Amino acid sequence: MLVKHILQDKGRDVIVIAPGATMAEAAQLLAEKRIGVVIVKGAEGALAGILSERDVVRAVGTDGPVALGHNITVYMTKSVATCRQTDTIEALMEMMTRGRFRHVPVLDDDKMLCGLISIGDVVKTRIAETLNEANSLREYISATA
Ligand code: AMP
Repeated sequence: MLVKHILQDKGRDVIVIAPGATMAEAAQLLAEKRIGVVIVKGAEGALAGILSERDVVRAVGTDGPVALGHNITVYMTKSVATCRQTDTIEALMEMMTRGRFRHVPVLDDDKMLCGLISIGDVVKTRIAETLNEANSLREYISATA
């Protein structure tokens, strides 16, 4: 299974935020949309960074409530690991495990954002694949018995 197959299922909408936003605005967006990360998109749609709920917690834990008034660019991760639609789910799992993050933005051939895959999407896909394999094996065994 490839990244594009997950996107066909879940859609390509990605919640983004402008680099000028504050941490409080980002936290409000995360809560409102019930999501774990927001993608920070700069001028001309370029990927400027990623801000996770963990970054918000770390910011408040380190700097206190004053962090909520600071700009998101202070706390976001600027070096973002991305994938392409033709990458496999296995490659994505390895990237997430090695990088210790749970979200990977998907870029198209023009390097524009075209989706976001979360660890939840990956786990859901793997479970469906495993169940399909088990069903096929069961059918094969009962057909040949
Ligand atoms: P997460 O597990 O995705 O909530 O994020 C954990 C940490 O990794 C946070 O500091 C995020 O900013 C960072 N992070 C999340 N996704 C990525 C990514 N695709 N590339 C690099 N860093 C990321």
